Amino acid sequence: MVNGIWNRLGIVNEELKAVMLAVPRHLFVDSALAAQAYTDKSLPIGAEQTISQPSMVAMMTNALAPNKGDKILEIGTGSGYQTAILAGYTPRLYTVERVAALSKRAQGLLEQLGYRNVIYKIGDGSLGWESWAPYDRIIVTAGAPAVTAKLKQQLADGGRMIIPCGDRETQQLLCVDRSGDQFRETELGDCRFVPLLGKEGWEK
Ligand code: SAM
Repeated sequence: MVNGIWNRLGIVNEELKAVMLAVPRHLFVDSALAAQAYTDKSLPIGAEQTISQPSMVAMMTNALAPNKGDKILEIGTGSGYQTAILAGYTPRLYTVERVAALSKRAQGLLEQLGYRNVIYKIGDGSLGWESWAPYDRIIVTAGAPAVTAKLKQQLADGGRMIIPCGDRETQQLLCVDRSGDQFRETELGDCRFVPLLGKEGWEK
Protein backbone atom coordinates (compact mmCIF):
# COMPACT_ATOMS: atom_id res chain seq x y z
CA MET A 1 0.00 0.00 0.00
CA VAL A 2 1.01 3.58 -0.53
CA ASN A 3 2.77 5.03 2.52
CA GLY A 4 1.69 8.36 3.93
CA ILE A 5 -1.88 8.50 2.62
CA TRP A 6 -3.47 7.76 5.99
CA ASN A 7 -1.99 10.77 7.79
CA ARG A 8 -2.78 13.01 4.84
CA LEU A 9 -6.41 11.84 4.76
CA GLY A 10 -6.73 11.90 8.54
CA ILE A 11 -8.34 8.46 8.45
CA VAL A 12 -7.92 6.24 11.49
CA ASN A 13 -9.42 2.95 10.38
CA GLU A 14 -7.22 -0.03 11.20
CA GLU A 15 -9.56 -2.52 9.56
CA LEU A 16 -9.52 -0.61 6.25
CA LYS A 17 -5.73 -0.30 6.43
CA ALA A 18 -5.39 -4.06 6.91
CA VAL A 19 -7.85 -4.82 4.09
CA MET A 20 -6.01 -2.47 1.68
CA LEU A 21 -2.60 -3.80 2.69
CA ALA A 22 -3.73 -7.30 1.75
CA VAL A 23 -4.57 -6.33 -1.87
CA PRO A 24 -1.56 -6.38 -4.27
CA ARG A 25 -2.37 -3.29 -6.43
CA HIS A 26 0.41 -4.05 -8.94
CA LEU A 27 -1.60 -7.05 -10.20
CA PHE A 28 -4.51 -4.79 -11.19
CA VAL A 29 -2.48 -2.72 -13.69
CA ASP A 30 -0.52 -3.63 -16.80
CA SER A 31 2.91 -5.09 -15.90
CA ALA A 32 4.57 -2.08 -17.62
CA LEU A 33 2.96 0.14 -14.94
CA ALA A 34 3.66 -2.15 -11.97
CA ALA A 35 6.45 0.10 -10.68
CA GLN A 36 3.91 2.94 -10.29
CA ALA A 37 1.27 0.79 -8.61
CA TYR A 38 2.29 1.88 -5.09
CA THR A 39 2.26 5.60 -5.83
CA ASP A 40 -0.89 7.58 -5.06
CA LYS A 41 -1.93 7.91 -8.70
CA SER A 42 -4.79 6.81 -10.89
CA LEU A 43 -3.41 4.74 -13.78
CA PRO A 44 -4.77 3.64 -17.17
CA ILE A 45 -6.37 0.17 -17.34
CA GLY A 46 -7.39 0.17 -21.04
CA ALA A 47 -10.68 1.06 -22.77
CA GLU A 48 -9.96 4.73 -21.82
CA GLN A 49 -10.63 3.87 -18.15
CA THR A 50 -8.54 4.19 -14.99
CA ILE A 51 -7.89 2.46 -11.69
CA SER A 52 -8.65 5.03 -8.97
CA GLN A 53 -5.96 6.57 -6.74
CA PRO A 54 -5.44 4.56 -3.53
CA SER A 55 -6.24 7.65 -1.43
CA MET A 56 -9.61 8.02 -3.24
CA VAL A 57 -10.36 4.30 -2.76
CA ALA A 58 -9.49 4.67 0.95
CA MET A 59 -11.63 7.79 1.33
CA MET A 60 -14.64 6.30 -0.46
CA THR A 61 -14.48 2.99 1.42
CA ASN A 62 -14.07 4.78 4.74
CA ALA A 63 -17.08 6.99 3.97
CA LEU A 64 -19.12 3.99 2.78
CA ALA A 65 -18.46 2.47 6.23
CA PRO A 66 -19.60 -1.05 5.32
CA ASN A 67 -20.56 -3.42 8.13
CA LYS A 68 -19.63 -7.10 8.02
CA GLY A 69 -22.41 -8.87 6.17
CA ASP A 70 -23.79 -5.81 4.34
CA LYS A 71 -25.04 -6.42 0.83
CA ILE A 72 -22.99 -4.07 -1.37
CA LEU A 73 -23.50 -2.92 -4.96
CA GLU A 74 -20.49 -1.47 -6.81
CA ILE A 75 -20.97 0.37 -10.11
CA GLY A 76 -17.79 0.46 -12.24
CA THR A 77 -15.79 -2.74 -11.65
CA GLY A 78 -12.89 -1.38 -13.74
CA SER A 79 -9.70 -3.23 -12.81
CA GLY A 80 -11.38 -4.94 -9.84
CA TYR A 81 -9.11 -3.21 -7.28
CA GLN A 82 -11.89 -1.47 -5.35
CA THR A 83 -13.94 -4.66 -5.74
CA ALA A 84 -11.22 -6.67 -3.97
CA ILE A 85 -11.19 -4.20 -1.08
CA LEU A 86 -14.98 -4.31 -0.69
CA ALA A 87 -14.92 -8.10 -0.92
CA GLY A 88 -12.86 -8.03 2.27
CA TYR A 89 -15.92 -6.67 4.08
CA THR A 90 -18.87 -8.61 2.82
CA PRO A 91 -19.97 -12.08 1.77
CA ARG A 92 -22.35 -10.47 -0.76
CA LEU A 93 -20.80 -8.11 -3.28
CA TYR A 94 -22.45 -7.30 -6.61
CA THR A 95 -20.44 -5.39 -9.22
CA VAL A 96 -21.49 -3.96 -12.59
CA GLU A 97 -19.19 -2.86 -15.43
CA ARG A 98 -20.27 -1.67 -18.89
CA VAL A 99 -17.01 -2.65 -20.68
CA ALA A 100 -17.07 -6.42 -21.14
CA ALA A 101 -13.27 -6.78 -21.53
CA LEU A 102 -12.64 -5.01 -18.21
CA SER A 103 -15.27 -7.03 -16.37
CA LYS A 104 -13.89 -10.34 -17.67
CA ARG A 105 -10.30 -9.40 -16.83
CA ALA A 106 -11.27 -8.30 -13.31
CA GLN A 107 -13.26 -11.49 -12.77
CA GLY A 108 -10.34 -13.67 -13.93
CA LEU A 109 -7.88 -11.92 -11.63
CA LEU A 110 -10.17 -11.87 -8.59
CA GLU A 111 -10.96 -15.57 -8.98
CA GLN A 112 -7.24 -16.31 -9.30
CA LEU A 113 -6.68 -14.35 -6.06
CA GLY A 114 -9.33 -16.46 -4.33
CA TYR A 115 -12.27 -14.02 -4.10
CA ARG A 116 -15.39 -16.19 -4.33
CA ASN A 117 -17.94 -13.75 -2.91
CA VAL A 118 -18.35 -11.44 -5.92
CA ILE A 119 -21.17 -11.58 -8.48
CA TYR A 120 -20.38 -9.81 -11.77
CA LYS A 121 -22.61 -8.20 -14.37
CA ILE A 122 -21.75 -6.63 -17.70
CA GLY A 123 -24.23 -3.84 -18.36
CA ASP A 124 -25.44 -0.33 -17.61
CA GLY A 125 -24.90 0.26 -13.89
CA SER A 126 -26.57 3.69 -14.02
CA LEU A 127 -29.74 1.59 -13.67
CA GLY A 128 -28.32 -0.34 -10.72
CA TRP A 129 -28.97 -4.09 -10.51
CA GLU A 130 -32.62 -4.49 -9.66
CA SER A 131 -32.79 -8.25 -9.17
CA TRP A 132 -30.61 -8.24 -6.02
CA ALA A 133 -31.92 -4.97 -4.51
CA PRO A 134 -32.17 -3.55 -1.88
CA TYR A 135 -28.51 -2.93 -1.01
CA ASP A 136 -27.17 -1.75 2.36
CA ARG A 137 -24.36 0.07 0.59
CA ILE A 138 -23.93 1.36 -2.97
CA ILE A 139 -20.66 2.75 -4.31
CA VAL A 140 -20.37 4.38 -7.73
CA THR A 141 -16.85 4.75 -9.10
CA ALA A 142 -17.66 6.87 -12.18
CA GLY A 143 -18.93 10.46 -12.29
CA ALA A 144 -22.73 10.79 -12.58
CA PRO A 145 -24.72 13.87 -13.67
CA ALA A 146 -26.99 13.37 -10.63
CA VAL A 147 -27.88 10.81 -7.98
CA THR A 148 -29.77 8.42 -10.22
CA ALA A 149 -33.38 7.59 -9.38
CA LYS A 150 -32.87 3.86 -9.93
CA LEU A 151 -29.93 3.74 -7.51
CA LYS A 152 -31.95 5.65 -4.89
CA GLN A 153 -34.80 3.13 -5.24
CA GLN A 154 -32.37 0.23 -4.79
CA LEU A 155 -30.78 1.62 -1.60
CA ALA A 156 -32.14 -0.07 1.53
CA ASP A 157 -33.84 1.98 4.26
CA GLY A 158 -30.96 3.01 6.56
CA GLY A 159 -28.51 2.42 3.70
CA ARG A 160 -25.73 4.61 2.36
CA MET A 161 -24.49 5.46 -1.13
CA ILE A 162 -21.19 7.11 -2.12
CA ILE A 163 -21.35 8.70 -5.57
CA PRO A 164 -19.39 11.38 -7.47
CA CYS A 165 -21.84 13.89 -9.03
CA GLY A 166 -21.21 16.90 -11.21
CA ASP A 167 -20.21 17.57 -14.81
CA ARG A 168 -18.26 15.28 -17.13
CA GLU A 169 -14.84 16.41 -15.88
CA THR A 170 -15.17 17.37 -12.21
CA GLN A 171 -17.53 16.24 -9.50
CA GLN A 172 -18.40 16.51 -5.83
CA LEU A 173 -18.17 13.26 -3.89
CA LEU A 174 -21.55 12.77 -2.22
CA CYS A 175 -22.60 10.60 0.69
CA VAL A 176 -26.33 9.83 0.44
CA ASP A 177 -28.05 8.40 3.54
CA ARG A 178 -31.55 6.98 3.22
CA SER A 179 -34.12 7.11 5.96
CA GLY A 180 -37.52 5.95 4.68
CA ASP A 181 -38.33 8.24 1.76
CA GLN A 182 -35.79 10.87 2.84
CA PHE A 183 -32.34 11.07 1.21
CA ARG A 184 -29.79 13.25 3.05
CA GLU A 185 -26.80 14.34 0.95
CA THR A 186 -23.44 15.32 2.46
CA GLU A 187 -20.61 16.74 0.33
CA LEU A 188 -17.27 15.03 0.95
CA GLY A 189 -15.05 17.06 -1.40
CA ASP A 190 -14.05 17.67 -5.02
CA CYS A 191 -13.03 14.76 -7.22
CA ARG A 192 -12.42 13.78 -10.86
CA PHE A 193 -13.80 10.55 -12.24
CA VAL A 194 -14.34 9.17 -15.73
CA PRO A 195 -18.01 9.65 -16.71
CA LEU A 196 -20.78 7.23 -15.81
CA LEU A 197 -22.08 6.41 -19.30
CA GLY A 198 -25.61 5.08 -19.64
CA LYS A 199 -29.34 5.62 -19.54
CA GLU A 200 -29.26 7.55 -16.23
CA GLY A 201 -25.68 8.72 -16.79
CA TRP A 202 -23.93 10.63 -19.59
CA GLU A 203 -24.29 9.96 -23.29
CA LYS A 204 -21.31 8.19 -24.83
N1 SAM B 1 -13.09 1.10 -9.14
C1 SAM B 1 -12.31 0.81 -10.32
C2 SAM B 1 -10.97 0.22 -10.01
O1 SAM B 1 -10.66 0.05 -8.81
O2 SAM B 1 -10.25 -0.09 -10.95
C3 SAM B 1 -12.12 2.03 -11.16
C4 SAM B 1 -13.31 2.42 -11.87
S1 SAM B 1 -13.06 3.53 -13.20
C5 SAM B 1 -12.65 5.03 -12.39
C6 SAM B 1 -14.78 3.73 -13.63
C7 SAM B 1 -15.39 2.52 -14.28
O3 SAM B 1 -16.78 2.74 -14.44
C8 SAM B 1 -14.83 2.23 -15.66
O4 SAM B 1 -14.34 0.92 -15.71
C9 SAM B 1 -16.03 2.42 -16.57
O5 SAM B 1 -16.03 1.58 -17.71
C10 SAM B 1 -17.18 2.12 -15.64
N2 SAM B 1 -18.47 2.66 -16.06
C11 SAM B 1 -18.77 3.84 -16.64
N3 SAM B 1 -20.10 3.91 -16.85
C12 SAM B 1 -20.65 2.76 -16.38
C13 SAM B 1 -21.98 2.25 -16.30
N4 SAM B 1 -23.05 2.92 -16.73
N5 SAM B 1 -22.16 1.03 -15.76
C14 SAM B 1 -21.10 0.31 -15.29
N6 SAM B 1 -19.84 0.74 -15.34
C15 SAM B 1 -19.61 1.95 -15.86
